[in-house]
Amino acid sequence: MWKDKVHARIHVYIYVTLSTSKTDATSGYFMVVFRAAALHYVEKVALWQFVCSLSNREVCSMPSEVKPRFVVLYGSQKGQAQSIAEGIAEEAEDHGLVAELSCLNQSEKYNLEKENAPVVFIVSTTGDGEPPDNALQFVKRIKKKTLSTDHYKHLCYALLALGDTNYANFCNCGKTVERRLQELGAKQFYATGYADDGVGLEVVLDPWLEGLWKAIKGALSKMASDRTDPSKGDVGDSPKETPDSYIPDVQLNLLSLNDHQSCESVRASVDTDSKYASSSSDTRNAVSDLRPASLAGSPVLASQSHGTASVSTSAPETQTEDAGVPHVALAASLTCSLPPLSESSLNVPALPPPYLDVSLQDVDTVEQIVGRLNDENVHEVPINRAVQLTRGDSVKTSLLLELDISAYPMMAYQPGDSFDVFCPNRATEVEDMLHRLGLQDQRNHHVHISLNKDTKKKGAQVPTYIPQRISLLYLFTWCLEIRSVPKKAFLRALVEHTRDGVQKRRLQELCSKQGATDYNLYVRDPSLSVLELLTAFPSCSPPLSLLIEHLPKLQPRPYSAASSCLKHPGKLHFVFNVVEFPACSARPAGRRGLCTGWLFDLINPGLVFPGKPEHFGSQALPKIHVSLRPNCSFRPPSDLSVPFIMVGPGTGVAPFIGFLQQREKERQENPEAAFGETWLFFGCRHRGRDYLFREELEGFVSSGILNHLKVCFSRDDQEQEEEMEVTTSVARPRYVQHNLLLNSQHITEILLKQNGHLYVCGDAKNMAKDVNDTLMEMIKTELQVDQLEAMKRLAGLREEKRYLQDIWG
Ligand code: FAD
Repeated sequence: MWKDKVHARIHVYIYVTLSTSKTDATSGYFMVVFRAAALHYVEKVALWQFVCSLSNREVCSMPSEVKPRFVVLYGSQKGQAQSIAEGIAEEAEDHGLVAELSCLNQSEKYNLEKENAPVVFIVSTTGDGEPPDNALQFVKRIKKKTLSTDHYKHLCYALLALGDTNYANFCNCGKTVERRLQELGAKQFYATGYADDGVGLEVVLDPWLEGLWKAIKGALSKMASDRTDPSKGDVGDSPKETPDSYIPDVQLNLLSLNDHQSCESVRASVDTDSKYASSSSDTRNAVSDLRPASLAGSPVLASQSHGTASVSTSAPETQTEDAGVPHVALAASLTCSLPPLSESSLNVPALPPPYLDVSLQDVDTVEQIVGRLNDENVHEVPINRAVQLTRGDSVKTSLLLELDISAYPMMAYQPGDSFDVFCPNRATEVEDMLHRLGLQDQRNHHVHISLNKDTKKKGAQVPTYIPQRISLLYLFTWCLEIRSVPKKAFLRALVEHTRDGVQKRRLQELCSKQGATDYNLYVRDPSLSVLELLTAFPSCSPPLSLLIEHLPKLQPRPYSAASSCLKHPGKLHFVFNVVEFPACSARPAGRRGLCTGWLFDLINPGLVFPGKPEHFGSQALPKIHVSLRPNCSFRPPSDLSVPFIMVGPGTGVAPFIGFLQQREKERQENPEAAFGETWLFFGCRHRGRDYLFREELEGFVSSGILNHLKVCFSRDDQEQEEEMEVTTSVARPRYVQHNLLLNSQHITEILLKQNGHLYVCGDAKNMAKDVNDTLMEMIKTELQVDQLEAMKRLAGLREEKRYLQDIWG
């Protein structure tokens, strides 16, 4: 058929990279126009042969047929990096580009060894600075020492690292990938973004995405022109081509929270942001329409340089005052905004393309499908014992659970391992959700999910974690994290299903750039759940498919083993705090953590206090589903003579109970062996209320298993001290890091001279970072070295797996 077409007058536009000029992003392209009117008998093949014969010249773009390509690779643990990568891939078309999207573990789908298009990496970090599961193999591959320094010489990349500054190893995976890419010769074409979930990813993410497209086009142009200019050799060979002269200066690292907290009145330009307002006229109109009715008729003000700033109402309580008019206290809230945000034009994200078809089928018999809980690694085990470790007047409630794993030898664990607890969503919340969606009468219907054939979503697939033939009730109980905080893309999608104009506008604000601060204040910080959001926006009626598309998988919760199999054969202990979320306007009653709240309810009838009679007695023991999560590095030293230091305040002491129980057994079995010194730094609020495992720890000290127990209490005597206005030159140690500092000489000696190990477990938000900073100070002082040298020493300890963390929060 195409043969017939060449008889017609055809214009084939082929952008052929011939040029050596690279003054701007487009001048590297030389457009050759084939007026093919005369080519009546030219075969298409011949045409392509001609094109290909332009030696080494690359066809970069052929409108309507060949678009320049680039590669997007992601490593994602909880789906954030994946959804950003998918967003980039979806938007590529608007920029006249083709994105090839793959997960880093799909190595059969991409080939970096031969890749000659720009590559964009989006990688998150998990646990103690580890790569996400689906990036592990990739990181391992690029870390191979056998790779030469020019292995990726041909590669041009950009990288977005996701992390959380609450954790000590911020963006560690992204940094590792970046370091290795550079060591292997790859060239960066765009400054790396380090997006911080601790303050809101969008602070760095939005400007990074904004500059990405220009950078990709620049890189395509440069790579093509370099390939066609033999004088240049491979990309990046010349020192003149160092990233500095080439990378758009987006100053990503200078952005701080303050940048987007600016409350200046801004009428944002509607078409400056490719992601938030694509250049298509449709979208432009859509964005203009987002101005409130009061502004709809007024012209959109000229774009300002800070047109992307957030124009939040930010403060929940605001006063307005006009001359002669009394003060009226207005309060911004989840559902209500104030000027300037309420009057601002908005840049909202592109509407995520729907991709699932979902139907409900009435069936006669409801199968009790247990789906993934039938996984061979997941075991249903009885709870043998449940003990409250804290006193009733303690701020936090810490519980110890003993599981009977004797029927499952494959659950044999080592101290330092943790295990996953599979918990369902709360039955009342599932019911509320069904009612809210108007699906309460269909709870036992089978859910049938298939891919929408016409979807525009790249790489769309039916979620693999949803088993076939499950009931709607099962779906909401076991598969979807209905407590998850709705992402902005989800809010954007909800706008389409909201009838009331005021509510619609507020949802638009919350997902807009201008409303970033309000999003953090009213959605992200209070961990607002989707159900709470739907309750606050009653005119929003999303279809079931939208919830399945946007709600993440319900994740099991990991807990550290707080026992040793040697001391408690067939038993597994763990300790947890019942997480309490405070009340907020959208959640007047507050709520408990999902898993810890569920466990608390489960064991409450049989809960005992230390020293009181225990066991569930004649009642049937509740059972829970668990699976083992071995941790190969967070283990006591295999050489018994090596000294080690444990830092574990609060429930962070859990794995160290296992370490010490194991040491107790080892001592009994090897009475003649030389054992290294053991140190434990523990901290809690009050000696009398929440000193976990006090008796057991003091017992370890008496028997010589634990050589040094350093305990501090952050709230004891505080009131007394304040009353007496005590000011002493040496502050009383309140936190574990203070006690570390008081023992600085010993600690550094053990770590730096005796080849000892240091383990940190517990709260990631403050403690792990404070301990890390303190260790740095200690090294600086003891070795009389500068900050950089101290950092190197600490990094060396991490590398040697002698400084290990097991942190959460
Ligand atoms: P969710 O409903 O999931 O809410 C969690 C949210 O609550 C978090 O996003 C956070 O913002 C907030 N939060 C407030 N306080 C805490 C807190 N103390 N922990 C976590 N989130 C908090 N927890 C233990 O208590 N004991 C352990 O031994 C333990 N070991 C862990 C080992 C590993 C490897 C990891 C990754 C985590 C571990 N955790 C441990 C944390 C645990 O997995 C859960 O996150 C925690 O119990 C909260 O679960 P939830 O479902 O009740 O809360």
